Amino acid sequence: MSKKPNMADRCGKDELIVITGAGGFIGGALARYFSDLGFKRIRAVDRKPIPDWYQRVPGVENLNLDLSDEESCRRACIDAAEVYNLAADMGGMGFIERFRIQCLRSILVNTHMIEAAYQAGAQRFFFSSSACAYNTELQKLPTVRALKESDAYPAMAERGYGWEKLMSEMFCQEYWSERGLKTSIARFHNVYGPWGTWDGGREKAPAALSRKVIEAKDTGKKEITIWGDGTQTRSFMYIDDCVKGIDMIAHCEDLIAVPINLGSSELHSINSLVDTAEKIGGIKLERKYDLGAPKGVAGRNSDNTFIKNVLNWEPNVPLIDGLTKTYKWIEQQYVARKEGQKTVRDTGH
Ligand code: NAD
Repeated sequence: MSKKPNMADRCGKDELIVITGAGGFIGGALARYFSDLGFKRIRAVDRKPIPDWYQRVPGVENLNLDLSDEESCRRACIDAAEVYNLAADMGGMGFIERFRIQCLRSILVNTHMIEAAYQAGAQRFFFSSSACAYNTELQKLPTVRALKESDAYPAMAERGYGWEKLMSEMFCQEYWSERGLKTSIARFHNVYGPWGTWDGGREKAPAALSRKVIEAKDTGKKEITIWGDGTQTRSFMYIDDCVKGIDMIAHCEDLIAVPINLGSSELHSINSLVDTAEKIGGIKLERKYDLGAPKGVAGRNSDNTFIKNVLNWEPNVPLIDGLTKTYKWIEQQYVARKEGQKTVRDTGH
């Protein structure tokens, strides 16, 4: 049943694309992606002050709005043809295990944004869900089978963040079935790449471990602290695959209101992620395991059977290639910070 998305179904190059969370990692990359494709009217929205955005794309309208407020969502959606909702209060395990209320409160953004998109007459609404929406009972061993889309139910999502995503998916499904708004739902699995959070407490494992290797090299302290025992398994998707996947999913009529995995199926343990970062850095470090640190579920991978069937594609940038680019970028950031220059750093606005 392989069927390519129809890119002719995108809005016109002169119609307005709205991207929320665009001051952050994936939203910023998506604004750049659509701008590079020649879309002329892109509105980027984030609650962070504009000078703190990770990327500011030339020619894009940047708005500083807190989208947990309904009126701000209405303002953000005026005249929108397509809306990509990537705003969320989130971070790596260190953040989502500690700040569950903050994570849950992102539901305000999602409920107000979808209503505002509908009221504005948008043609499409994309929602960034997460693999954290899956039933945690199925993720108790590092060797667990990969998660397929139906594994979200019976529901036992990750506390806080996962439930917020699952509930917001349901809004997307009901806005389609009751009101005819074309919605798309992608469940991202660990996204990494340049222009992402790499320090400050919200960073995820690929960036955090790359930074630790860089720090160890710089300071001469030849050890690295790993959260958990290092056997936890995950897959990691490079940012270029992520934005390409968002575009394809959002423009595939077979995927309207149908949740779909968007992740790599190349499984790694945290230990093998450290091996890869060490290989890139050309160093071997002594490993210290912090068993009390947040570590999330024991194992998680993306079953890509569905995306391959529907889109005839799956994220395919190998970890070594993506992490090499990410590591080099973090190294530049690290040096820039040492020299007192402004860098990408999430200050948790
Ligand atoms: P990010 O933290 O870099 O970006 C999110 C942005 O949303 C931030 O810039 C933040 O300021 C903004 N935001 C938060 N609350 C807001 C509000 N009330 N109003 C306006 N802006 C607000 O995160 P990201 O990695 O780019 O994630 C983007 C989306 O993808 C999120 O929905 C996230 O849950 C989802 N996701 C990401 C990953 C990943 O590995 N990065 C995995 C699964 C799902």
